[in-house]
Parts: sequence; C-alpha cells; structure tokens
Amino acid sequence: MRTACVTGVASGIGAATKLLLESQGCRVIGVDLRDADVVADLSTADGRAAAIAGVLDACGGVLDVVVPCAGVGGLASGELTVRLNFFGTMALVNGLRAALSDGTDAAVVMISSNSTTMTPGLSPTDAQVYLDGDEEAAVQHFARAGWIAYPAGKLAIAYWVRESSAAWIADGIRLDAVAPGVIDTGMTRPLLDVPGVKDALESIPIPLGRWGRADEIAAVIGFLASPAASMVVGQIVFADGGTDALLQPRAHPHPLPAPGAT
Ligand code: NAD
Repeated sequence: MRTACVTGVASGIGAATKLLLESQGCRVIGVDLRDADVVADLSTADGRAAAIAGVLDACGGVLDVVVPCAGVGGLASGELTVRLNFFGTMALVNGLRAALSDGTDAAVVMISSNSTTMTPGLSPTDAQVYLDGDEEAAVQHFARAGWIAYPAGKLAIAYWVRESSAAWIADGIRLDAVAPGVIDTGMTRPLLDVPGVKDALESIPIPLGRWGRADEIAAVIGFLASPAASMVVGQIVFADGGTDALLQPRAHPHPLPAPGAT
C-alpha cells in the first residue's frame, strides 16, 4: 500500500486529493489547521516542524507521495501568502525528502496556478525573491508589492520544480506540479462576494466555459502521483479549461536558441 502526505486536506483540492488517493488504495496522512491526522500551522516555523515530525512519526519514516495543497488565496494578507504558500510548502517538502527517498516510485506533486501565465506584469524577478530563500526579506518585499505575492509564489514553485527535478529524480523522487485555473473551492467562493473581484474573476477567458471542480484537479494530481506517470519529470501540467493555451499559445514549448545566438 502506498503512503501519501496531503496538506490542506480539510477543504477543496486537498480534500478531493485525499478522497481520490484513498479510492486508489493509498494511505493518506493529512495535515491541516483542523480535521486532519496532523494538526499544524504551516505558516510558522514551529508549525512546520510539528507537521514534519507528525508525518514522519505516522509514516514510520517512509513516504511514497507528498501533495502540499495548503494555501491561501486572494483575500489573505501578503505576509500569510508568503509564509504559507511558498515557505510553508517548501519547508514541508524538503523536510520529507529523506522519507520520500526511502519510498517506492516516489512523487511530489506541487500546486502551482495558471495565475503564473495570466497575470499582466508578473516577472521572473518576483519569483526570484522567493527562490533566494530569505523568508523575512520576501515578507518585506511583498508587503510593498501586495497582491503579486500570490502569482509570484506560484511562479517560484513552478521554477523550483523545473530546476530541481533532475536532482530529485537522481534520488528516485519525481517532482511535478499541477497549475489549476479557477476552481470552485473554499478559497474562491468567498471572492464572489467581494465587489470588483467577482467581475475580475468572471472576465477570465475559459474556453471550457466554466470554473473547474476540485475533483478534476485531484484527478491530475492522482495521475502525476502514480507510477503510471513514471516518465513525467519536472513538468507543470495546466488544468485550467484552456486559459493558458488561449492567452499564450506559443509560449510553450519554447525551442532552444541556436548555438551562439544571444
Ligand atoms: P481551500 O481554501 O479550499 O483549501 C485550503 C486548505 O489549506 C484549507 O483546508 C485550510 O484549512 C488549509 N490551510 C490554510 N492555512 C493553513 C495553514 N496555515 N496551515 C495548514 N493548513 C492551512 O483552497 P483550495 O482552492 O483547495 O487551494 C488548494 C491549493 O490550490 C492552494 O495552494 C491554492 O493556492 C491552489 N490553487 C487554487 C486555485 C483555485 O481556484 N481554488 C487555483 C490555483 C491554485
């Protein structure tokens, strides 16, 4: 039986992922602020340490899958977004790396977002603030840069997956990410009551014609987490009803420049 750790398991995409993995015969160790096997606050150093210790204790030091879904969205402060969405996620994944390297067909499925490719003006520099690894500096930076903290953190996660996947697969651990579009969850539903935000959400072009459901994202996560995805390494799989392809149809695949070209 495979053993997985899923964070944010009390709601939305995390809850749907737990259901799906369990239906596939996987044992799931859930982490959340409430209603979880390991109750911990991943936005704080103490909470992260408690989460890692609790998961390692529950799995006996051997894990096959990690899916860090815990996160906050548009109504949260920039500081919480920075501390939880990027640094909490990275601390947990790095803290469980040794247990994954002792697992079988091990996989980590990170949660990025299609906000990485549809936010006007978002720049790789914003993601680099996260990837530099200084949490307090990132909190300061995004206190000034406000709302961009969310897509910048998701861009940093995508870059991290692509840049780290070769090193992790050398340890037998596949790193991939899913990039959801707008999904109907506890994160997005309250946004419909915020003046202006509802209109902004409804103006997002979605060729599929509707928001996604949490189980549709869980299905992608379930595939990426499974041995069936053994050849998929370092990929960001967009599951957004076609928005990314519509807005930037030739952004990916991006051919290598000719040798010597600048
Ligand atoms: P959700 O609000 O339904 O679930 C998030 C979960 O995280 C909740 O159970 C919550 O209790 C938990 N959580 C919040 N703060 C925490 C903390 N400090 N420590 C531990 N757990 C904490 O949201 P969701 O839509 O399922 O989002 C899951 C992930 O998907 C997030 O990373 C989010 O950024 C990402 N995402 C969501 C959407 C969307 O449209 N819903 C789109 C793209 C990406």
